Parts: sequence; C-alpha cells; structure tokens
Amino acid sequence: MTEFDTRLVHGRSQHDNQTGAVNVPIYNSSTFIFPKVDAKVTWDYARSGNPTRNYLEDQLAALENGAKGFAFSSGLAAIHAVLGIFSPGDHIVIGNTIYGGTFRLINQFFKRWDLKVTSVDTQDLAAVENAIQSTTKAIYFETVANPLLKVTSVKAISKIAKRHGLLTIVDNTFLTPYLQQPLDLGADIVVHSATKYLGGHSDVVAGIAVARDQAIADRIYFNQNGIGSVLSPADSNLIRRGIQTLAVRLDRHVSNAAKIVNFLQSRPEIAKVYYPGIAGTKDYEIATAELKGYGGIISFELQKGFDAIKFVENLNLIQLAVSLGAVESLIELPYKMTHAELSPQEQLKAGITHQLVRLSVGIEDPKDLIGDLTQSLDRLSEPVSEVTD
Ligand code: PLP
Repeated sequence: MTEFDTRLVHGRSQHDNQTGAVNVPIYNSSTFIFPKVDAKVTWDYARSGNPTRNYLEDQLAALENGAKGFAFSSGLAAIHAVLGIFSPGDHIVIGNTIYGGTFRLINQFFKRWDLKVTSVDTQDLAAVENAIQSTTKAIYFETVANPLLKVTSVKAISKIAKRHGLLTIVDNTFLTPYLQQPLDLGADIVVHSATKYLGGHSDVVAGIAVARDQAIADRIYFNQNGIGSVLSPADSNLIRRGIQTLAVRLDRHVSNAAKIVNFLQSRPEIAKVYYPGIAGTKDYEIATAELKGYGGIISFELQKGFDAIKFVENLNLIQLAVSLGAVESLIELPYKMTHAELSPQEQLKAGITHQLVRLSVGIEDPKDLIGDLTQSLDRLSEPVSEVTD
C-alpha cells in the first residue's frame, strides 16, 4: 500500500468515467436509470447513494482504516445519524467539554427521545468508569476539545469501553486522520465536522462518520438514508479536493502554531497559553503518545486589565470569526461567540473567562501572523491619550 500522504492525493483509483478525467466527476443526478424493472443497479436514487459522495465516503473509510464512511450535510448531521443508532432508555457517557452544538443536540433533542446521558471529565478515567450504568451503550468524546484544547486518550477510554461492552465514539474534528486515526487506537466510530480541516477553506459545511465494522456501519447507513441529511455531490467534491492537500496544510498549520505559541509566551500581555504541544501538562503527555502533531488551534488568556475585545478587533490580517481549520487564520472570543450559550457560571466552570481568546492558526507566512498579533498587542499597552482642548 502507498504511504498515507500519497493516498490523500490519489484516493481510490477510479475507472468509471468515459473521458479520462483525472478527478471523479460531480454526478449531478438525483436518480439513475434501471435498464430493466428488476435489474440489480448500484445507483438508484441519490439520497441512498451518489457516485461523487460515495467516492468521498470510501476515501475517508480507507484513510481512517474503517469499514465504511458516510458524508453528511454538516458535522451535526453526522453526529445526529450516529447517536440515532441508540434507543430510548439507552445511556451514554459524554465528555464534559464537547462542542456546544453537540451538547445541545444530546441534551435538548435526544433527551426528548429519552436518551440518557452523564457528562464527565474524560481525562479522569475513574470518573468515566464510575459513570457507566447497566444501560450504558457508548462513551462519546472529542480527542482535542474546545476551547482549552483538552486532550483525551482514545486508547485509555476505548479500553474501558471494551471492558464494559460499550462503543467508543470519537469526534476527531480538531485532528483529522492526518494527525490521528482513532479507529486504530480502539475507537469504533469516528466523526468529523468536515467544515473544518477536511474542507479546509471555509467554503463548505459538511460532516463525516466512519465506522470500524460493517454491523455498526449498517446502522449508521440506515439513519443516513432514513433521515436523509446527505452531502450534495458538489460539496462532496469540495471535501474530496480539500483532503488532497490535508498533509501539506496541516504540516503548515502545526508549524505556524508552534511559532505563535513561542511568540505568545514571550509577551507580557499574555497570562497563559493553552496548546497540547506545551510540555508539563496531561494534555501534552496524551498528545505526545497518541498524535502525530499538536494541531493548529491555540487558546490564550490576556492578562487582567487588557481589553480582549479591543485586541481581536484591532487585528488586520487575522479575521474575527467563529469556525476553525481553514487556510486563513480566524480568531474569536469564546465567552461572547462560540460559547455564548453557556451561563456565566458554566463559562467559569469550563475555564472560559472574558480574557480567553481562541486562535485557529492558518497557513499564512508566520511572520505576517506574528506581525499582526504584535501590532494589536502593542496597541493594547499604549496609554490612552488624554483629551486636551
Ligand atoms: N464537532 C466539533 C468539534 C465542532 O467544532 C463542530 C462545529 O464547530 C461540530 C462538531 C459541528 O459541525 P458542523 O458545524 O459542521 O455541523
């Protein structure tokens, strides 16, 4: 088999077009001809399967070493279809720092269907074990979680899950299969918001799920087809294209992030930097053992007295926006933007202060990024000019 980076570029070899096109075509067809009424056809109706989407799904399954992949119209649609394999009365253990939209889906939508849930710190293995009940069916968590970049061990959690006969479901959006392949570490299902690094250009909303074995894949497929939130052929093509450059983009995201971490640590205006690549934390320990790189997202806390709103608004190159994982650098204030739905008490409990900033490091020249951060930090320290008449 060829190396991983080569497989990102070439995908599955594909001989089904008559033109010699290098890329799989965008099959803009919602339906497909039956040569005879009872013919066995591969494609019949595009919600059930479309060649462009299936190409992407097979590509992801191969990259994650899974049995089958599924592409959805958003990350949340993927998570909906995955959690939809459970039944009323089932219980799942979830990480207490999962994406707010996922928590809302579980806690407000699935709660109405009587899916029970306990949220725990997934770095605390005793707490995970204690949360398991007789009706527990799965443990769901994010490998690197928002906004403090907390890292959870896939190996350790899946070991507990196996011991209790549970599924391990991992949201690996922040890492992608380039930095970690959770199925190889013991997980059963991996999901992604492909809106982020897999797409990589802030131009598509998409979700992916990959199942390790066919029996679980069949249950997810039933939901994908039955609920119908599939990814369009055009958007499937954008994710397919994004994946081809995943290795080079992520190498640059990761190396830029390391340079920016060093820079931030040298500035007196910064009180604390959160990044899995900073030694001396549990996050670093797990990340070093289980990831191929520390990722492209950094969070940091400005010293008290420095105005975080002014800081992000004074940046010129780095854009003020939610989302992450794109070629362009994006910055945001979690307490006002991504995590604004949490109450002030919940924010404080999650370590989300008014001084906390999240930066999705892009692939620009790092000198320009550091230059932009420098000018904005310098302006924070400028004395406010006295008004004289
Ligand atoms: N999982 C994580 C870790 C996310 O950050 C997000 C979105 O930000 C999602 C899932 C949801 O994905 P989408 O916005 O594509 O529905």
